[in-house]
Amino acid sequence: MPKKKTIKKNTATRKKDEPKLVKAPEKDRRRAARIYKKLQEKYPDAHCALNHTNAFELLVATILSAQCTDVLVNKVTPGIFAKLPTPQLMAKADLATIESLVNRVNFWRNKAKSLKGMAEMLVEKHGGQIPQTMEELIELPGVARKTANVVLGNAFGINTGVVVDTHVGRIARRFGLTRHDEPKKIERDLMALFPRKNWCMLSHLLIYHGRAVCKARHSLCHNDDLCRYYCSNAKMD
Ligand code: SF4
Repeated sequence: MPKKKTIKKNTATRKKDEPKLVKAPEKDRRRAARIYKKLQEKYPDAHCALNHTNAFELLVATILSAQCTDVLVNKVTPGIFAKLPTPQLMAKADLATIESLVNRVNFWRNKAKSLKGMAEMLVEKHGGQIPQTMEELIELPGVARKTANVVLGNAFGINTGVVVDTHVGRIARRFGLTRHDEPKKIERDLMALFPRKNWCMLSHLLIYHGRAVCKARHSLCHNDDLCRYYCSNAKMD
């Protein structure tokens, strides 16, 4: 009888969507730490740009923020938070009511549906509480890894990954922290370079730098010390 092949069980099975966590070489991590320190000195007030007072509000705001500016989301959310401040009230609300509250953001029909579905699932499955794991959060309608990272990091102080938006991707590439364009790969590279405790703040710092200096077009490269030292674009100026 042929010997039965034993398949070794991986007890710490990685979830399908999870970037593989490896550490980058020490010299790269040291360079990353210097960049982080400089960013912190430069942007001591960096914080989440979406106005919120609790995890539910942040979840709502982050769902609305997909392909939409934080400024616009912050104009729309006060009306939603005033009328539907809890998952229970949002779950019970008519879709038309939610639509009327969000119709200034893009993809508002889909986003309204997501908000209602998200609130219903929170009530039915989580007793109206916001779950605190990546696996549970990404089950909610309208919530993918990026949104879950925003909520976990900012509402609960749990660093499960790094939020990668267009600013983060662009600046990470320009600072030589990644060579990738795909958010999942950029996130994996940043997780390998920076200590877990800094993951949430790292995205805020990169976003602040993106808005202040390293814009998608017309970057202010030559005026900036941090850039001059760490970005190959600046050295060419
Ligand atoms: S040097 Fe220019 S391109 Fe490089 S990070 Fe700074 S602003 Fe961005």
